[in-house]
Amino acid sequence: MTRRVVLIGHPVAHSLSGAMQQAAFDAAGIDARYELWDRAPLALPEAIAELHGEDFLGANVTIPHKEKVVPLVDKTTDEAHATGAVNTITKDGKRLIGHNTDVAGFTHALDALVGKQKMPRQAVVLGAGGGSRAVVFGLVRAGFQRVVVFNRHLHHGEALVKFFGRSAAHMELRAMPWHESVLEAELSKAKILVNATSVGLVPGETPIPGELIPPDLLVLDLIYNPAQTRLMREAEAAGCHVMNGEGMLLHQGAAAFELWTGTPAPLDLMREKLEEAIAAGGSTPADETPPAGAVADAAPVADAAPVADAAAVPAGD
Ligand code: NDP
Repeated sequence: MTRRVVLIGHPVAHSLSGAMQQAAFDAAGIDARYELWDRAPLALPEAIAELHGEDFLGANVTIPHKEKVVPLVDKTTDEAHATGAVNTITKDGKRLIGHNTDVAGFTHALDALVGKQKMPRQAVVLGAGGGSRAVVFGLVRAGFQRVVVFNRHLHHGEALVKFFGRSAAHMELRAMPWHESVLEAELSKAKILVNATSVGLVPGETPIPGELIPPDLLVLDLIYNPAQTRLMREAEAAGCHVMNGEGMLLHQGAAAFELWTGTPAPLDLMREKLEEAIAAGGSTPADETPPAGAVADAAPVADAAPVADAAAVPAGD
């Protein structure tokens, strides 16, 4: 029986996970097929229930479902529990186990970004969704002393801070309103900026005006397609060291592969396939076209381009 692994998100049409995961299954001689399922939030419970079927090996979960899927699985691992977000599902018999391999992916990306420097202690994080939760957890675990979260809807940022309450009690974790003067003040104190919003998936959009970015920041944009976002270009022009989300995607994918198969991930092959897919423009065969406005649907977006060209919007992972 060919086993199935599905990526559940909305949108998913241009996800690059399929390119690296299918190549990894094939290279490991595992008879499995990686499928893309575009499911709107209302259809999520039904999609998760389907995974109980014998043919399913597991799933990835992406934008915007990583938090909403938590109560739909039978058990969560420590990292999924600690972040309140699930990006990978495995099976234990018929039981669904929720994992968070974004944490491992982010930790790899953070180490690569910081390189040989001393690990900084202050960060600004843009966004408070599922990806941001893995980022904040990774920063707390890496020993950061002050992390400030900015989010379009402040209450979502506040909920994230409240969620981490006890595990971040030894440090300062704060949600702040998305005002340029507040952002500017916090960026001038921080050493690291992480964009964990989906703003930038549409080329030309950027979450914050370039003028706010001080030189010498380390900037990680979780977006990997486009490979260079406007935020990255503007940060680089300001004198910052920048990195996109490709390394995080690769390492969260490798961890997920190992969980589904119990086999070491062919990391070099996965990297090669990911890079090929990015070079090809990020399009892999998809089952559906994302709905208009599915990703970035409201301000704040600096000099926002209209989001009408949603078919060009790749999936988050
Ligand atoms: P979610 O849907 O859970 O969260 C989306 C976040 O983006 C929210 O904070 C939301 O704010 C914010 N946002 C959306 N539109 C706007 C806008 N117009 N202006 C300002 N903020 C906005 O998605 P994820 O957390 O799963 O993913 C977020 C991004 O991170 C995606 O680009 C995804 O590709 C990337 N990612 C990459 C990974 C990798 O491996 N490289 C791993 C995980 C994520 P609000 O709460 O106000 O709606």
